[in-house]
Parts: sequence; structure tokens; C-alpha cells
Amino acid sequence: MEPSNPALDPTDALSSVPTAGARRAAAVGSLRFFFGPMDCGKSTLALQIDHNQARQGRSGLLLVRHDRSGTPTISSRMGLARRALEVQEGMDLCALVREHWARGARVDYLIVDEAQFLSAEQVDQLAELADEARLDVYCFGLATDFRSTLFPGSQRLFELADELNAIQVEVLCWCGLSGRFNARVHDGEVVRAGSTVLVADTAPVADEVRYQVLCRKHYRTGDLGPAAVRGEQLSLT
Ligand SMILES: [Zn+2]
Repeated sequence: MEPSNPALDPTDALSSVPTAGARRAAAVGSLRFFFGPMDCGKSTLALQIDHNQARQGRSGLLLVRHDRSGTPTISSRMGLARRALEVQEGMDLCALVREHWARGARVDYLIVDEAQFLSAEQVDQLAELADEARLDVYCFGLATDFRSTLFPGSQRLFELADELNAIQVEVLCWCGLSGRFNARVHDGEVVRAGSTVLVADTAPVADEVRYQVLCRKHYRTGDLGPAAVRGEQLSLT
């Protein structure tokens, strides 16, 4: 991932990291939430920010809640991946950072993927780390669940974060309109009730639960569009 010529690195545009001197003068941490629907590039951006921070000589912890791969990893659909620590239910994130300090490890920033699955209490801990330990905390996640209501972790982030950033990579509904809703689909039908935490990939698997991003109208009406856009490849002949 290291560019051959750092001066020409096009990812510099994403970097909001001040120089070390400016950082000490500011001496505050921040809590930021980057949100968007599935497949909008959240994990890619998480890895990019980690890369940019590390290049400034800063040390970070990568955290993930309910990782989709089995081993805790922040992985993007573009193929990038980095090992991460899995945030367990009830884990105290302030204690986690203190443990790293106790071992002599520096922690300047946190990257938290799948942050929608954090508890409200864990988001409170992230705010405390930003305020008291002056960490820069970057959270990435979905805003709303398949019922179109805010995840508890996302709700708390909306309440507490210093910065809210809607990720600008637009994900389109099959009709071409902007998709904001993560519909849960089972046997070709949009499901609107059930457990919030049900981790599945977005790739279509016969007879299993999958997710599809829809515009509000087609989320409301449950219209999944023509078969071709659901991943059932049309023949070219
Ligand atoms: Zn639509």
C-alpha cells in the first residue's frame, strides 16, 4: 500500500492529519462518525485513514465489532485488509486503551469499524477517550438497520460525535436513485421485523438472508427490481 512517490500520493486529499507540532498545540481529541449504506466504502475509508495516520508516525488501534470474516479484520470489498481487535459485548474501551499504555504501547488514535454494533455505553467511552486521553476516534458504520431505525451505537454517535460525515460514495438502488436503506431480504421478500444483529454478506445466496440497498420508495414498497440487478447474470447471447 506504500506509494512509490509519497509526494504524488492521491490519497493525501483524504488526510486531515495536522503536523505533530500543530497537534500538540491543539491538544484535543475528536470523535468522528462516518456513516453510509452497505457497500459505500466505509471499510476502505477506515483503512485509508489508518494508513494516512500511520504515515504521520502516529500509533493506532484498529477495532471491529461483529466482523464479517470470522477472524477480526477490517476488510474492504476492494481487497484491502488489516487485522483488528474484536470489540466484545460489554468490553470497556477505556480499559482496553489503558492496558495498551500499561504495556508501553502508544495509542494516538482509534479506528472502529462496524461501529453501529457498539453499545451506547461503549460510544460514551469513546467520547471519554477523545476528551480525556485526547485520542482521535474514527468510527465507521451503518446509520440505520433493516427496519430503517437507527442502530443503538449509531444513535449514540449521532448524539455525541464532534463530526458526522455521510460517506459520499453513492450507492444506487436498482432504479438509479440514491440508496439509503439496507433492506433485509429473505426468499425474495423484504423483511421488516426480527433481530437487528444478523450478520450476512451482501452477495446473493439462494434461500438465505441477504441485504440489498434500496431507495426509500422501493424500501417502502418492497420492490427489489428486475432479476438482473439482483445478481442473476443475464446471458450475452
Ligand atoms: Zn429505487
